[in-house]
Amino acid sequence: MPPRRPPTDLELISVFKMLTANEQLVASKMSSRCAILVRAANRRVKRLVISSGNDDLRTLKDSINYYSFASKPSMQQLKAIPGETFPDYPMTTHLSEWNILRLNQLRLIDTATIEQIVTIFSAVTDLKFITIGSRHIDALVSLLQHPNWQRQLTNLMVEGTYRMDSQLAGELIPAINGLTALQLLALDWDSYSKISDLPILAQLKTVVFSSNRLSTFLRSLERNAADNVHLAVHLISYDTKALLTLSQPLHSRIVRYGWDPLYYTNDQVPLLCSQFRSLTSLEINGIESTKVGQLFSDLSQLHQLIHLSFGVDFSEVNDEFPLPALPLAQLNSVRALELRLEITSHSQIEWLNLPSTMPNLKTIYIDRFRCVSCKVEVGRGDSSFLSSPPALGCFRLSLFNLHPGVPMKRFILQSGEERFSAEELLLQSQ
Ligand SMILES: [Zn+2]
Repeated sequence: MPPRRPPTDLELISVFKMLTANEQLVASKMSSRCAILVRAANRRVKRLVISSGNDDLRTLKDSINYYSFASKPSMQQLKAIPGETFPDYPMTTHLSEWNILRLNQLRLIDTATIEQIVTIFSAVTDLKFITIGSRHIDALVSLLQHPNWQRQLTNLMVEGTYRMDSQLAGELIPAINGLTALQLLALDWDSYSKISDLPILAQLKTVVFSSNRLSTFLRSLERNAADNVHLAVHLISYDTKALLTLSQPLHSRIVRYGWDPLYYTNDQVPLLCSQFRSLTSLEINGIESTKVGQLFSDLSQLHQLIHLSFGVDFSEVNDEFPLPALPLAQLNSVRALELRLEITSHSQIEWLNLPSTMPNLKTIYIDRFRCVSCKVEVGRGDSSFLSSPPALGCFRLSLFNLHPGVPMKRFILQSGEERFSAEELLLQSQ
C-alpha cells in the first residue's frame, strides 16, 4: 500500500467549507497553515449571523427575519411573482447551521477571539447580531470597532437588546456611528435603554428602528437626516403619539409603520394617512364595518401603499348601524392584502368589492375568517375541516369570490401553524 499523502490545500479548503462557523474557529487554531486555509475557505462569505443565546434554529429563524418586510406572508407571495419588485426592504437571510457563529459555545471571548473572527470572516459586509437580554453586546462593540469590519460593513442588524445597561448602550451606539460604509441599520432597541444621537442616519439608505418609544430616535432623525433625501425609515412600534410629532419635512421618509396592528378607534389612523403619504405598509385592526368607508377614504391618500393588513367585523351591522354608502374609495397601489374577516352574510363580500377597490391586488392572505351564517371559522388551529364540503361551499360563495383577479394559488388561508392555498384546498377535496 502506498503511503498516505497529506491533504492538499484545496482538499483542506473544501473540508473547512463543510464545517460550521464554530468548528472553523477551532480548526483555524490548529496550525498557521490551517488558519490561512480557513480564511481562504471563507473569502466569499459576505453574510454572517452571530447569535448569543438561543440554540434553537427555528426560533432563530423567526428572529432573524423579524424586521424584514418580506417575512410578511403576503409579501412572500408577492416576492415570488416574476417581475414583482418592491424597493428598499431590509435584508432577509437564509439561515442554516453553516452561517451562524454561536458565541455561547465559545469558551472565551477575548481580544484574540475577536481578531480571529474578523480575520476568518474577512469579506463579511452583512452582519446580523442576535442577542438575548443584551448578552455579548461587549463582543459586538469590539467587532464593530475592529478597523477591518469598521470600514467594510454595509448592513448591520442588532436584535434583542432588552435590559441593556447604560454603559453598554453608551459604547454600542458610538461603535455603530463609526461604521464608515454602513447603508442599512436595523436596530431593535429596548424602550427603557437610553439611546444617544445617531449621526450615522445622515449616510444610511435604510434604517429600521424597533422600539416601544420613538421620541429620542425621531429627534435624532430630525437632527441628522434632514438632508438625506434617500433615507427610507421603517418604524416597528406602536408609539403613534410620538410619530405624529415628527417634523413635516421628514414625513416622506417614513415608509413603514406598525407593530401589532393599530386600532382604528383612536383617530390616529386618519392623521397618519394624511401626514405620512409615503407609507408602503400599514397594519390596522379593529375596524367596525360602519367605518370601512372612512378607512378606505383615509387609505386612498397613500399612493405608495403596497401592503395592507386589516380586519373587518360585519357582525355589528344592523338597522341602527347600517353599512356605509358605496362606493368605497379605490386603493390602486395595494398589491398584497392580509385580511381578518367576520361576516354574517355572503353579500358582505360583494359589498367590499375588492376587484374594484383594489384592482391591482396580486395576493390575498387570510389569517382569520368567520362566516356566522355557515358556522365556518378559520384560524383557530383546527384545519382538518378546511377541505370539507360545507367549508368549501362557504369559501366558494364568499372568500374565493373576494377577487377573481387573484389566482387560487396566491390565495392563502392560515389555520394555526399551517398555511394552505385555495388551490390546494380545492385539489384536496376532489
Ligand atoms: Zn358562509
